[in-house]
Amino acid sequence: MQAVVWRMPRSTHKSRVLITSALPYINGVKHLGNLVGSQLPADVYARFQRARGRETLLICATDEHGTPAELAALEAGQSVEVYCREQHEIQRDVGERFGLSWDYFGRSSSPQNRRLTQDFARALWKNGHLEVRTTRQVYSKADGRFLPDRYVIGTCPHCGYDRARGDQCENCTRVLDPTDLINPRSELSGSTDIEVRNSEHLFLKQSGFTDRLREWIDSKKAEWPTLVTSIAYKWLDEGLQDRGITRDLTWGIPVPDDIADGRLKGKVFYVWFDAPIEYIGATWEWADAQGKGDAWRSWWYGADDVRYVEFMGKDNVPFHTVGFPVTILGSGEPWKLVDELKGFNYINYEGGKFSTSGKRGVFMDSALEILPADYWRYYLMANAPEGSDSNFTWQHFAGVVNKDLADVLGNFVNRITRFAASRFGGKVPGGGSYGAEEKSLTDELDRRVAQYTDYMEHMEFRKAVGELRAIWVLGNEYLTKAAPWTTIKTDTGRAAASVRMGLNLVHLFGHLSCPLIPQDARAITTAVMEATELIPWPDEPMAEFLDGLEPDAAIRPPEMLFAKVTEEQIAAWEARFGGAN
Ligand SMILES: [Zn+2]
Repeated sequence: MQAVVWRMPRSTHKSRVLITSALPYINGVKHLGNLVGSQLPADVYARFQRARGRETLLICATDEHGTPAELAALEAGQSVEVYCREQHEIQRDVGERFGLSWDYFGRSSSPQNRRLTQDFARALWKNGHLEVRTTRQVYSKADGRFLPDRYVIGTCPHCGYDRARGDQCENCTRVLDPTDLINPRSELSGSTDIEVRNSEHLFLKQSGFTDRLREWIDSKKAEWPTLVTSIAYKWLDEGLQDRGITRDLTWGIPVPDDIADGRLKGKVFYVWFDAPIEYIGATWEWADAQGKGDAWRSWWYGADDVRYVEFMGKDNVPFHTVGFPVTILGSGEPWKLVDELKGFNYINYEGGKFSTSGKRGVFMDSALEILPADYWRYYLMANAPEGSDSNFTWQHFAGVVNKDLADVLGNFVNRITRFAASRFGGKVPGGGSYGAEEKSLTDELDRRVAQYTDYMEHMEFRKAVGELRAIWVLGNEYLTKAAPWTTIKTDTGRAAASVRMGLNLVHLFGHLSCPLIPQDARAITTAVMEATELIPWPDEPMAEFLDGLEPDAAIRPPEMLFAKVTEEQIAAWEARFGGAN
């Protein structure tokens, strides 16, 4: 028997939980790798916290500024404002259909974020953490414009990757300056006829924050994933560079005139500066939309009773362990710093990369065209890229869905509810009483439910899903052993007691599965009782919970819960989603 590792429950001393996931960029629907690295685990965690009865706020938004949005709008023949509004709606719609239960899904171009971003910059300026510097910036003669950093492509001086962008190398995750690149060229035209011109910009003096940040990361080392702290330490060890936070663009949040005597008139803040501030901005948008006035502020400002948890892929970790914390610390105001940061590796597609430009892999909208959201949610969380990168293959996906969801969970629920419907008049049987079999089952479930709860609380999702699956398996084993379809011929009391236990297990599975597969968990719960809007986490001892259904209560066997994925479907989907290799 596996021992439960008891750890301090994280939320005992803080009543409210604030959860954000890295903001999806505005241009287009995201692929499943993006989803499992940020928005999906944030949703699972929020649903779990709500089920435990904690006041929870799940905030996300589209990240709308920057040149990629401008260029995509140009290509679509739209103004950038109209483009962003439409794309925001598309992402909101597909996210909701995936069951993402945001309290608010905002927009980084909102008036609230504009106000906050300008105020943060004013505070940083007042406190001496910003200065104006003349920068050398890449101008492309062929394109007739300044090139934003990410549109200068070249070889990474650190790792030698030959398609590194001028803002960050996606291979080694180091932040770059376009002038660092070897053999630079324009991403727009491919032209190497580029030159460096002078332009004035605001710089955030990050270098002065190294000691404070190191102390802060040290205090998190025991709790945060190694993936996260190792990225943060790598940055600190290399020495923090001061960062330009403005750009020569028109689409963005304008630099206010009262900074640097208006010398930066006409320039905008860099998207990396305003995007994380939108976590706060979107909370403000939520309060405005709900008519809650200043309620947003109580989640962020001097909010000692709030535990703040961030979810993101590893490429976003530097900006959340260094960039955004410097903005907050430098403001000199008691804005909330992240308490727990859950970072993820990448998920690959059939051994290669998911590719947005190459249309390779499965994207959120097309995933929902072929299967319901819960199939994807379960598979992705069961294989979340926590310790290392993970790999999506259709064969593996089909194996997990067919075994875990169809054979183990779906089959259990169908078997027992149909048997109760046909042999016990569609009601929870009241006869017989629980014996040694049931005692041993409830003992093991006490241990496993506690372990599952602990894994969820600590955001160890693969282990959590493994524990949930083991709980489903226990139910099947119990039913096979108890065999009410046999005992009903000789001992109706015994048969009634084991069917009653089986139906109580259905009830338990519904509650425990809710954060992962909310729609099916509701259908499962509804099979044995009227489900409340919020399906609560079972806190009582299992002996009590598993005796919870009233005798004679009506059973409603659900339609088939999970259909198996066939070989024909796999072949068709491999062809459809393969993309250019
Ligand atoms: Zn590199």
